[in-house]
Amino acid sequence: MPMQPNDNEPRFREGDLVSVLTTAPLDGCLDYRAPPGGTELGRFVEVPLGQRKVMGVVWGAGEGVVDPSKLKSIIRILDIPPMRREMREFLSRASTYTVTPLPSMLRLATRTSDLGASKATVGIFRLDGLPPERMTPARARVIETLRNCKGEQFTLSELAKRAGVSTSVVKSLHQAGALKRVERVREPEIAALQPDHQIMELNEAQAAASTALREGVAAGEFLATMLKGVTGSGKTEVYLEAVSEAIQRGRQSLVLLPEIALTSEFLKRVREKFGAMPGEWHSLVTQAQRRKVWRSVAEGTAQLVVGARSALYLPFRDLGLIVVDEEHDISYKQDDGILYNARDMAVLRASIAGAKIILASATPSLETWVNARSGKYRRLDLPARFRDAALPEMAAVDMRQENLESGRWISDPLAIEIRSRLAIGEQTLLFLNRRGFAPVTICRACGHQIGCRSCDAKMVEHRFRRQLMCHQCGATTGIPTVCPACEEEGKLKPIGPGVERLNEEVKQLFPEARIAELSSDSVSSATAFRELLESIAQGEADIVIGTQMAAKGHNFPMLTLVGAIDADLGLNGSDLRAAERTFQLMHQVAGRAGRSGLRGLALLQTWQPDHPVIQAILSGDDEGFCRVEAAEREVAGVPPFGRFAGIVVSGTDESRVSGFAAEMVDNSGILSRVGAEVYGPAPAPIARIRGKVRFRILVKAAKTAPLQAALVKWRSQFKIPFGVRVSIDIDPFRFL
Ligand code: ADP
Ligand code: ZN
Repeated sequence: MPMQPNDNEPRFREGDLVSVLTTAPLDGCLDYRAPPGGTELGRFVEVPLGQRKVMGVVWGAGEGVVDPSKLKSIIRILDIPPMRREMREFLSRASTYTVTPLPSMLRLATRTSDLGASKATVGIFRLDGLPPERMTPARARVIETLRNCKGEQFTLSELAKRAGVSTSVVKSLHQAGALKRVERVREPEIAALQPDHQIMELNEAQAAASTALREGVAAGEFLATMLKGVTGSGKTEVYLEAVSEAIQRGRQSLVLLPEIALTSEFLKRVREKFGAMPGEWHSLVTQAQRRKVWRSVAEGTAQLVVGARSALYLPFRDLGLIVVDEEHDISYKQDDGILYNARDMAVLRASIAGAKIILASATPSLETWVNARSGKYRRLDLPARFRDAALPEMAAVDMRQENLESGRWISDPLAIEIRSRLAIGEQTLLFLNRRGFAPVTICRACGHQIGCRSCDAKMVEHRFRRQLMCHQCGATTGIPTVCPACEEEGKLKPIGPGVERLNEEVKQLFPEARIAELSSDSVSSATAFRELLESIAQGEADIVIGTQMAAKGHNFPMLTLVGAIDADLGLNGSDLRAAERTFQLMHQVAGRAGRSGLRGLALLQTWQPDHPVIQAILSGDDEGFCRVEAAEREVAGVPPFGRFAGIVVSGTDESRVSGFAAEMVDNSGILSRVGAEVYGPAPAPIARIRGKVRFRILVKAAKTAPLQAALVKWRSQFKIPFGVRVSIDIDPFRFL
């Protein structure tokens, strides 16, 4: 079989020295000799490494630092499309930006087992020779089917299914010599998307936005656009128009979504619009499907991929458009393992690929908003909800006036509104971004609060599961009846509400109501989640109680009331983005109310009704909020006007960790020289996770400072002591 073509990359002849980037956890590339037949830049290869064989990519000419007698040869070249120059550049630049070793980036780009395996073959059944001696109606149907469907390839189970018989009938025909079985490479069954399968009539603002986006795609060069519009204004509709344009021009598109749970709803919509399914890429996709998607993306047959953030590392052959939906969503920031922000990396990728990128949101991140204001990004607005769906009315409930008895969280004004919805069959969403029953368990005898053994965190009561759980490390214990500190019996008391506790209060106040709980504890799988959403949309619940999970873009037509149980919850952190996050979340939650023409109301229970963020949410003046927030951050020189790097030094031995963190700060002249300020070390806000102590150093620099290069040099000055880990997070989100 001929190899996949390569776009005129330099060739290496047999025996030439080549530098190979492998997925092995090293710092860089390794030298090998080109195999018989030579090779080219970008080829995926298999190379020996110690006793193992690992996958790699030909990255350049060899450097010749290894003793020539020790040089080994590339074992084989994989029969998959080579990594294109653009992708290599993307990985290099992403690696530099995030201060992540290149091999780790390559691992992100090859998250598919067995990429190099030859294409899977399957057994196909064909007619062979004469009909069998003994003919039964079932056997006849099999033969009929094969006669009628010449050119189609049936596996055993497919043939049995099509003929309406059991597989044993097919097998017996095979044994009787009436059928033969041949091995065939299965063609990937990717159906073509039709760009104009479904034509929507767009309203004026939608049409204007669609035209602008289509022109952007048609221009075929890098261009970033912020697409801002309230939920329900038709952002999705409009960016799918841009996808349609890319399909027409034969270029590939990538739509990134923040959450797996959203993809199935979304996939259905794409199928309606384009008449076929797009490629799908997220953690629940099976290895076999992954291989198929990876290959078809590389070969250029996949026109559209819908995926989670890791889809960004797929080997697109001709990427013309990236959409980042809900671009403000914090789940785009990977804060485990390789630390990167998929939204920012998407902009980088688009700029290298010469693609258009659309950042869509009802409440854009301040980063994006500022880029649009400065003219770096284009801006498009969809000002109104589609048709007559009006935005909900917003009001605060001043909790200082409410005097709720202990153990109650639902104020009278909110209860009255809920009751009136129950009376007319409309739905209520009660939002509380806290899992479990109670966030703290305290001993009334000694005041002890039950904490996690290995983390600096309180144990959260999960009554439904009869457990206390640490939300940092996931450790669980039974719910004790005796205080672990003073050993008094029966004095432990849950403090504060979680969704489970709220559920109990709702049951008491509204015994007749049907309740649905949307939290990661009550929903066990993506399918269960989808079914629950569906049943709520069908009106099978009166009151929905939910965490953040309930805030995302679901559409419940009968929902007209949203109650935020604790609107202040996010405001009280030291987090740079606390205000922004609260604003976005409250806006999003409130947006669940009144999606289908019914007038919606959002009630925010707050102890600080005069807080500027609460005021901004109530007035709905989001542009004003962004202006004020931007001005404050500009004065402070913090993101998006400055750059942060968070360094966490961790390990089990406290004195070694703190000593080393101090040594790093004491020797940070390299950082000062690029104008960076260094703060710390200080115990991290969560000073212990999984038994490891954590110290934090915060580095703040101007956006123009060559911070990453300085950080790399700085880190390489030190010999990191045994048992100590140093992680560098550029643009950290969580300051934990
Ligand atoms: P957003 O992405 O801004 O939340 P959507 O694109 O999901 O908005 O649109 C909200 C709802 O309105 C969807 O059900 C969508 O199908 C419908 N809709 C939006 N624009 C139109 C249109 N021009 N014609 C028909 N239905 C539309
Ligand atoms: Zn813990």
